[in-house]
Amino acid sequence: MVFIECNGRGISDVSLELLCKAKELAEKLGVPLEGIAVGHNLEKKLDVCGHFGCRTVYSVEDKRMATVTSIPYSKAVASVIKKYQPQIVLFGATTTGRDIAPRVASELRCGLTADCTSLEIGEHTISGKLYTDTLLQIRPAFGGNIIATIASPESRPSMATVREGVMKMSVPDTTRKIEIVRENYIFSDDDFITEVIEVMSEQKVVDLKSAQIVVSAGMGATSPEAFNLVKDLAQTIGAELGASRAAVDSGLLIKDHQVGQTGMTIRPNLYIACGISGQIQHRAGMSESRRIIAINSDPEAPIFGIAHYGIVGKIESILPKFLKAYRARA
Ligand code: FAD
Repeated sequence: MVFIECNGRGISDVSLELLCKAKELAEKLGVPLEGIAVGHNLEKKLDVCGHFGCRTVYSVEDKRMATVTSIPYSKAVASVIKKYQPQIVLFGATTTGRDIAPRVASELRCGLTADCTSLEIGEHTISGKLYTDTLLQIRPAFGGNIIATIASPESRPSMATVREGVMKMSVPDTTRKIEIVRENYIFSDDDFITEVIEVMSEQKVVDLKSAQIVVSAGMGATSPEAFNLVKDLAQTIGAELGASRAAVDSGLLIKDHQVGQTGMTIRPNLYIACGISGQIQHRAGMSESRRIIAINSDPEAPIFGIAHYGIVGKIESILPKFLKAYRARA
């Protein structure tokens, strides 16, 4: 079961990505894929869930839930889970998912693994007892120094959150239909102790996720000369600007540009890493790019281990040549 998050435009991308992953898991287990949606006026928006393999969405609607508030949302989700007893429940690691999932896990006394980077079905043994068909929740732990596989087969459901962009969205099949089942959860007035008075939304200025080309700056691009060259390259080839966390922490670019485990996970056609060492936390966000070009003055930099094309040299001497060659062909 996937928690279907709705935003102003419709169903959020992360929910659709999770449906694609959940479909794979459900097929492995031989069970149906279902969703749970909470809010108001959802019906029309939910059709798209069917296109990604979801058969049934249980929806809890109330006009007081047109905007997200923690208590009623959590109660509604927990009640649907209790009723239908899914084996696995997945949430987007969004502000809403991170608010609701732990409350639901606490109510149901079940395990919850945050920010999974991979999900599989497999076996797990605890004190000599073998559990089959268990959700293996894989994520970096201890600052990314190990990749941990976490399983909680003794309590059901197994619950996990996953960040946007981590799971791949498959091609939708628009002929697939969905069944929407309205659930009548009876709320009390005490459930609505928070009143949303006004919602202020801001347009995103950085769109890393849909960019076909991303040029990223790391700590090797912090000198004004190097950074201007990186920006010039991005602008010239129509790329979005990305950054390592260290570059963001140093104030080079705002957090919206950050690629990696605690930033965005992206799969552009072309990723150009400029002055980025390529630590595991950075690679987690870009290693599935179709083509990777790395420019780094250190021939031993780990980024070269995953780059399709590696250029050893300083940004200040390499990028002017790049720009000259590109402009000569354009
Ligand atoms: P550095 O590691 O300092 O590398 C700079 C590189 O630039 C070096 O390889 C150097 O050889 C090269 N260089 C220097 N000068 C030049 C030049 N003139 N021309 C060309 N090359 C040059 N990091 C992320 O990026 N994203 C994340 O989401 C993220 N999440 C994290 C989460 C946790 C829990 C932790 C513990 C860490 C996380 N990090 C993340 C940090 C990560 O471990 C690294 O510290 C960070 O990625 C390093 O950034 P960098 O490669 O820009 O800097």
